[in-house]
Amino acid sequence: MQNEWELRKHIVEVGKRIWMRGYVAANDGNITVLLNENEVLTTPTGVSKGFMTTDMIIKCDRQGNVITKSSNYRPSSELKMHLEVYKERPDVKSVVHAHPPYATSFAVAGIPLDKCVLPEAIIVIGAVPIAPYGLPSTSEIPDKIRPFIKNSDAILLENHGALTLGSDLFNAYYKMETLEHTASIVWKAIQLGNLNVLPTQERDRLMSLRENFNLPGRVTVCSSDPNHATQSKNPQTNTVNEGMIQDIVEQVLNNLKNKLTK
Ligand SMILES: [Zn+2]
Repeated sequence: MQNEWELRKHIVEVGKRIWMRGYVAANDGNITVLLNENEVLTTPTGVSKGFMTTDMIIKCDRQGNVITKSSNYRPSSELKMHLEVYKERPDVKSVVHAHPPYATSFAVAGIPLDKCVLPEAIIVIGAVPIAPYGLPSTSEIPDKIRPFIKNSDAILLENHGALTLGSDLFNAYYKMETLEHTASIVWKAIQLGNLNVLPTQERDRLMSLRENFNLPGRVTVCSSDPNHATQSKNPQTNTVNEGMIQDIVEQVLNNLKNKLTK
């Protein structure tokens, strides 16, 4: 069992890092660590994660009931989402939730980060899926993430943010860094007009490396098919765009027709 005092200090440190890197705004985000079989340390609600002190960290049981309350702080309503992860994944000891802008942009656009692009990301987080939208603070989010946390340590939350799971606190936090770093590079490559995807053979070699390194956690193997599944999860958006394009084409054709018949 890890020392509780040390863990509280580390949670404060990771809170500072997610805030300083712009992964959260205002009082957003939450961090938990499984202290032992029955107890969880969690960040408080209503506090910027960049300005926490160790006494603000709250100890809860696995059902979310507060055990040790050294102050007036309360756990986040998103604690349910973290507790769901610990229930489904006994190998996970820490969960980080944030709204990093590039990763969250993909979550808003409905585009999963599921292609084989960067070696480090292929090994550490694999294909990152998008869990469908759920109303924050309700049981909708735990329900929606359940199928995804079985096979992935990094998940995008539709129109919301990101969630990373780890064998310890820094393992979960570094996956958040890898996720955001990957999302920013994929975004920029798309802006440059080309996203090179590593072929199956290279992907398989990287997955063998992962096995050799004996890395903890679970990854879904990413796709080497450049046309694979990177499409909007929101068909309505596509319909609107296609309709707009059709309108424009029709207008151009009508204009041409008018000119030709004059
Ligand atoms: Zn959130």
